[in-house]
This record gives sequence, structure tokens and C-alpha cells, in this order.
Amino acid sequence: MAEPGFSTRAVHAGNGIDKDTGAIRRPITMANSYALPYDPSELNWSSADANLYTRNGGANQRYLEQKLASLTDAQDGIVLASGVAALAGLFFSLLRSGDHVIFSNVTYIAAYRLLNELFKDKFKVETSLVDSTDLAAVRGLIRPSTKLIHIETPANPTTGISDIAALAEIAHQAGARLSVDNTFASPYNQRPLALGADYVIESLTKYINGHGDALGGAILGSRQLLDPIRAQAQVNLGGSISPFNAWLIMRGSVTLPLRMRQHNDNALAIARFLERAPRVRFVWYPGLESHPGHSTARQQMSPGFGGVIAFGLDGGRDVHNRFVSHLRIITSAVSLGHDESLIVFLGADDERQHLFPEPFHGGFFRFSVGLEDAEDLIADLDQALHQF
Ligand SMILES: *Cc1c(COP(=O)(O)O)cnc(C)c1O
Repeated sequence: MAEPGFSTRAVHAGNGIDKDTGAIRRPITMANSYALPYDPSELNWSSADANLYTRNGGANQRYLEQKLASLTDAQDGIVLASGVAALAGLFFSLLRSGDHVIFSNVTYIAAYRLLNELFKDKFKVETSLVDSTDLAAVRGLIRPSTKLIHIETPANPTTGISDIAALAEIAHQAGARLSVDNTFASPYNQRPLALGADYVIESLTKYINGHGDALGGAILGSRQLLDPIRAQAQVNLGGSISPFNAWLIMRGSVTLPLRMRQHNDNALAIARFLERAPRVRFVWYPGLESHPGHSTARQQMSPGFGGVIAFGLDGGRDVHNRFVSHLRIITSAVSLGHDESLIVFLGADDERQHLFPEPFHGGFFRFSVGLEDAEDLIADLDQALHQF
């Protein structure tokens, strides 16, 4: 039989029949400890492989790891308490003092803090920020000590697109690794390992869970690369996920393909509406022909471009805040990839904003388009744009 498709795997991977009850759903195992064998003296208490203690790994975490590895075409996966725990676990396991990391000037803020503040100041890891859409600039920063290139594509919050296959080649020629934060695309729209990346990070909090009720994160890759991370990130750093959250994410992820189709379609329709709307100063959405990374996005994303749009209005902070106060369906809140639409104004207080492309200077919206009817979302935006 051919390899099952993405939707079949989203339903079945990691599920099975419960041996005790015959239930066709694997249960939530809310336990900290597992029974020891007759003679435990030979056990490795720091092992992440045996069911021993839930910080070392638990049943629900393992089921979710099986599913995510299947959906991302990875040999293996590590599920942790949050997306940031996944980033910290990767960086902590991989980097030593004196190592050099190149990373995008547009990333989730915690990735920037970890690399450019904690790892740099406390652990003497050398860092270079770069516009990772500029391959020549990345190549120019390579040093003998370069260990890792870390990117997001589409990037949070601008939706900037970096070329995964080209960056993987640059990294590998230098004997370094490439990690890609794939949270904005989700594995439905983009599979970076197939394009040459070594590690994929997913914040499960976003599209993969999709319902805004649990935190989780994952690192995906080859077994050989993940084994050393598993023990470090989980057993020693303690970033383990709770069985209940792993179960919630397992359930939410069943509908990932259905939801992503609606996110993709809604976001494209709304981005096209915003491009023509009055008072809209700029719109960035990777599915728009006007997006600077559109042709690369078409090569590496399929079937769609995700649910996040960045846009700005004519005027400053006041105009943006007034606009949001008139929205009726779209909620002003952080996070993204939920069922409901979320919008957040990112003002000029981010110390990195001068590094973002020019349209973003002075403030803009990150808009996570939800699963509501596109016509309703467009009507909501339209009425708010006409209120002032
Ligand atoms: C939200 C987010 C994270 C962090 O995930 P948490 O689950 O909130 O810790 C990392 N990367 C990207 C791109 C994100 O959007």
C-alpha cells in the first residue's frame, strides 16, 4: 500500500487501541511515576527512553511525537512544554562557548532573547543577526566556528520568506546545521526537512493544536541528531509537557489539514481585500504576488501560505488602536493559529524594529486569520476602516 496521505496520518498516526479497555482512543495517563522492575539497580535514572518518571518522558508525549514525526516526514520528534522550551532545548544541547550562530533579524522575540542575550552574555556564544532573505549576506558571515543557522519562514511577525534549500546548502558547506522554525506554515504547508533543514521547530500552541487551549513545542529531525537533545532538553532542563496538554494537542491536530485549508483560503481572500482597502499603507502575505518573497514561497510552500498577514495603516499608534477598538469579531490578543481571528498591534518599542524592512517601521498589525467565514471577517475589517 502507498504511504497514507497527510489527512490519514493526521487522524491515525500515534493513535491505537488501549490494551486494558479496548477503547479505540489511547487514554490520558496522568501519572508522574511508572512501576520499576524487580531489580532497578541497573536503571539509568537520566534515561529518556524508558517509562520511569514523567519528566523523562510519558505515554501521551510519545504518542504525539509519533504523530508529529509522521506529519513532518521526520525520523523522530521531541515534544516539550512550549515552543520556547523547544528552542531553548535545541540551543542548549547544541551550542558551546565559542560557537558561532547566524540567525534572522526577524524571529519570534524569545529566539532573539535566547541567542542574542542569554547565550551570548552568559555562555559566550557568538551571534550574528542577518537578513536571512539575503543569501550573500548569510554566506558572508560564515566563520570556521559557525555551528548553526537559525531561521523562521514565514517569519514572525513580518511574514518574511527565507530560502530553506539554499540556506541548508550554505550551512552544510560550512559544516554547520540549519534549524527552521516552521510554526507559521505548519507541516501542512511546508516540510523543511525535505528541503534540507536539519532541525524543525514547531510551536504546537499555534496551528497544530489550533484551539488556543494548550501550550506545547516540538523539535523534529533525524534520530541521530535528536537523541542527545532529548535527554538534555527534557530530563536535565525539565521542559517536559504535561500529559493532559499532549493529549489536547493530539486531539486538536486531527483537524490540522481541514483547518489549514480554511486558514489558507481566508487569509488569501483577506490579504487581497486589504491590498485594495482605503487607509491600508501596506500588506505582507506570502501568497500575494506583491510580497517580496512570493516566488520563493511558491517553491517551498504548498498547497497554501498559512493564516498570518502583516499590515499597517496610514497613521501612527493612535490610528491603529482606534481601528482595533472598532473590530467586532476579530479579537485583540497575542498568539496565533487559533480557531478565532486574533490581531495585535506591534508598536515601535521592539528594539529590533529598525532591522525590519522599511514598511514595518513605526508599527503594524500581525493578524492571525481564523476559521470564521471570510465574508464576515472582511465585513468586520471594512466597517472598522470606515469608522474614522
Ligand atoms: C509562538 C511562537 C513560538 C513560541 O511558542 P510558545 O509555544 O509560545 O512557547 C516560537 N516561534 C514562533 C514562530 C512562534 O510564533
